[in-house]
Amino acid sequence: MDNFLLSVIIPVYNEENNIKPLLDRLIPVVKKHNYEIIFVDDGATDKTALLIKQQIKKNQNIRLISFYRNFGHQMALSAGYEIARGDAVVSIDADLQDPPEVIDSMIKKWQRGASIVYAKRNERYGESYFKLKTASLFYKLINFLSDTPIPTEVGDFRLLDKKVVLYLNNLKEKPSFLRGLVAWPGFSTEYVYFKRNKRFSGETHYGFFKMVNFALDGIMSFSTKPLRLATYFGFLSAGLGFLGIIYEILKKIFYPESFVIGWIGIFIAVMFLGGIQLVTIGIIGEYIGKIYQEIQNRPKYLIKEKVNL
Ligand code: UDP
Ligand code: MG
Repeated sequence: MDNFLLSVIIPVYNEENNIKPLLDRLIPVVKKHNYEIIFVDDGATDKTALLIKQQIKKNQNIRLISFYRNFGHQMALSAGYEIARGDAVVSIDADLQDPPEVIDSMIKKWQRGASIVYAKRNERYGESYFKLKTASLFYKLINFLSDTPIPTEVGDFRLLDKKVVLYLNNLKEKPSFLRGLVAWPGFSTEYVYFKRNKRFSGETHYGFFKMVNFALDGIMSFSTKPLRLATYFGFLSAGLGFLGIIYEILKKIFYPESFVIGWIGIFIAVMFLGGIQLVTIGIIGEYIGKIYQEIQNRPKYLIKEKVNL
């Protein structure tokens, strides 16, 4: 046995059929080291927590914390990081989309000095064309908007060195987009590659609107460029309006007889400007909402129960 502790954190939300199959594949990989497996039950309403407790009776390296309700995947991960005591901390999904065997090569790269090892998917199975396309579009957009380069084709399956975990745990902000926060400081980074499978059992918890919300959270916590964009739109439409006025004045002077009932023009201008104004107010509102939430400073999650901790 080497003398480091490996923590594996697994957010679970209604994954009752995946717990046993996951552990059957995960434990052979991690038992080569000192390890702990931390399940974060994100308010599951099925037998997930019960099944984990049964496993804990058999294996004292497994731990569980349960939230009172569903606080979201990112908060569950964040709780895992706060509890993990490992020198290396791996986060993995419960649905076996992330193959546990990849952890071996992650550990090797970490031992050679990488502080972050991402598992990058070079192929994805069992996910809709729509999900793949929107995901790639999202990463293009966020990398265009954000000053922090955010790795693409990388999810929340990664290994973090203890120092990265410490940095995350010391952040004052709510971690609504951990992928970005992990990338932000520029720790030494390595990749391992894997094929992302389809879910072992159950359905994804990220439906269309949840994905859009996650994307907006990500963009807003890593960029204020949308606000700048709003300013540009303002300038643009004001500029166009100004040109229009000059045009009308010149027309009045040089061709006073060409009088047109320009209501369509006015209608379009009102719609266009109204639209831009609403979007702009919306963007500002989103940021104010974020500021408001941060000021309220409510807890990120509330723990109902801890087992074997
Ligand atoms: N998850 C969670 N809280 C949630 C939604 C999901 O803890 O509100 C967990 C879920 O149990 C799984 C992981 O986060 O282990 C990834 O979720 P999912 O497989 O639904 O997302 P996808 O892989 O489709 O992006
Ligand atoms: Mg999944």
